[in-house]
Amino acid sequence: MLKFEVIVDWDKCRASKVCVNLCPTYVFSLRKIRWKNSEKTVSVVVNPNNCIGCMGCVSLCSSNAITVKPKNLEIVRVIKQSKAITEFFS
Ligand code: SF4
Repeated sequence: MLKFEVIVDWDKCRASKVCVNLCPTYVFSLRKIRWKNSEKTVSVVVNPNNCIGCMGCVSLCSSNAITVKPKNLEIVRVIKQSKAITEFFS
């Protein structure tokens, strides 16, 4: 199964909570953290293994603070290859 790495850029995050509300697999939670010598509320990846790669958070975060990328690039390559083969024979 394809796994995804979810990263929140805490410099950009404004804690809008959009990702918390929209993520279907409850990857995010808002937390108060100590960041660069001050307190800041940000979105934190609390369930990193839940991500299904729907990209909703990446699309709707108005701060462009979220990056989601496949962890296993070998699987991505195989999927792309099999899709190319399917398209070739259809
Ligand atoms: S890509 Fe989808 S499943 Fe993954 S963290 Fe974002 S909203 Fe959640």
